[in-house]
Amino acid sequence: MEMASSAGAIIDGKRIAAEVRRSVREHVADLTRRELRPPRLALILVGDDPASHIYVRNKSRACERAGIAYLDIRLPEDTPGERLLEQVDELNHDDTVDGILVQLPLPGPLRHLEPAVMERVEPSKDVDGFHPENMGRLLLGQPGFVACTPLGILFLLEQTGVPLEGAHAVVIGRSVTVGRPVAALLLHRHATVTICHSRTLDLPGHVRRADIVVAAAGKPNLVRGDWIKPGAAVIDVGINRTEQGLVGDVVFDEARQRASHITPVPGGVGPMTIAMLLQNTLRARTMHR
Ligand code: NAP
Repeated sequence: MEMASSAGAIIDGKRIAAEVRRSVREHVADLTRRELRPPRLALILVGDDPASHIYVRNKSRACERAGIAYLDIRLPEDTPGERLLEQVDELNHDDTVDGILVQLPLPGPLRHLEPAVMERVEPSKDVDGFHPENMGRLLLGQPGFVACTPLGILFLLEQTGVPLEGAHAVVIGRSVTVGRPVAALLLHRHATVTICHSRTLDLPGHVRRADIVVAAAGKPNLVRGDWIKPGAAVIDVGINRTEQGLVGDVVFDEARQRASHITPVPGGVGPMTIAMLLQNTLRARTMHR
């Protein structure tokens, strides 16, 4: 972690993600040494969305490097919903598949089926953590799969060593994929959690009281430096494409002057998501003997 004299330390998500990936690779190598099969992840991609293609390619490459086997399943955009659900069922019943990931968003005509598809994935193979059973387990504090980006955010915070117990954490965003699960994870670590969203009144006032800020609104430069309480830890989840390039939800240069720790965009939370996917897949393998 780099520490300048007055500015906050930059949380190096790239380095931390590489460490997680190395640890997964070592565990997989250990399985192979013991002549046990490596974990296997099925990646389902429906349609031709270029961004989704890049995400799936990055995931399959990361699997390859970690020694995780993967099954690359491509379905055309006009795949009937029933066929997609059948494909998920086949993978649910395949004992050589530990994890199933359906790349979202689904193309337009299938978009309405996203909840049904998430629910169809067998919970013990739900490495994305989006199945209602796993979401429920998270709220109940029971073991289950947790979504990869929230897991990555928690991992980064734990690496900084900032105390979570008793801290006031403000999460900006209440999406089911980021804001809500991250709030639940923080609550389990005994933080006092405030969840803000687009109807929140006086967002700056909430952020000013936060020891930990998790910004996941998807709004470029929403959080100004003078909102940050001196010494707060700032996790910027936002990925926003602007004319100035890729930026987060936080005005980084301003916020760094007050934060104790801060994630950059890119190179902060982003690399953690795939690292946690590999970790979840390894965990799924240990559940399927
Ligand atoms: P989302 O589903 O669009 O949710 C955004 C949330 O932010 C909503 O709850 C929304 O409130 C809230 N919000 C929007 N504008 C706001 C404002 N001005 N003030 C306060 N709250 C506001 O987005 P998401 O999927 O959670 O993703 C959030 C950001 O994280 C995006 O930039 C996304 O690209 C990024 N992301 C990064 C990773 C990664 O690094 N690997 C993974 C996932 C997402 P309402 O609920 O009231 O609409």
